[in-house]
Amino acid sequence: MKSGPAQIAYVGLGANLGDARETLRHALVELDRLPGTRLVRASSIYRSAPVDAQGPDFWNAVAGIETRLNPYELLAALQQLEQAAGRERPYRNAPRTLDLDLLLHGVLRQDDPELTLPHPRMRDRAFVLLPLAEIAPGLVDTGDLARVADQRIQRLT
Ligand code: ADP
Ligand code: MG
Repeated sequence: MKSGPAQIAYVGLGANLGDARETLRHALVELDRLPGTRLVRASSIYRSAPVDAQGPDFWNAVAGIETRLNPYELLAALQQLEQAAGRERPYRNAPRTLDLDLLLHGVLRQDDPELTLPHPRMRDRAFVLLPLAEIAPGLVDTGDLARVADQRIQRLT
């Protein structure tokens, strides 16, 4: 691991196969265990209707972490956690045991298709914006929230 400056990053978690709620809970623990990384805040868990995806309703959350991993190291670590959770990619937007998307890494903006930041679709997705607004309201635009208001999502207590 390169040890860069500590940055605040946000990770979107989603699952809709298997014991999805337990998968999310475990993934939050695993994020806290990544090298040079600690979990700072976790949102509530939400249930949402699939958007451009198939299968049962999703379980979603957003985590705020402090990390010394650079963005590519962090993405690789997230993909390893997806693999460990048994993620398969039989076809695009297939149901998934665990999806970990890197939403933001500090203030970095970049267009690399391997890693685009901020995440290119986060502003269109209620299941990202609502949990993110819960833990970091200053990062979410109220106009974006209004635009996703028709997407079905429920915050669990
Ligand atoms: P999705 O989450 O869109 O359903 P995947 O999880 O399979 O699909 O990710 C597809 C690809 O998106 C990955 O190979 C990854 O390199 C790329 N990607 C680009 N930007 C990001 C990002 N910010 N977070 C996660 N993956 C990203
Ligand atoms: Mg993903």
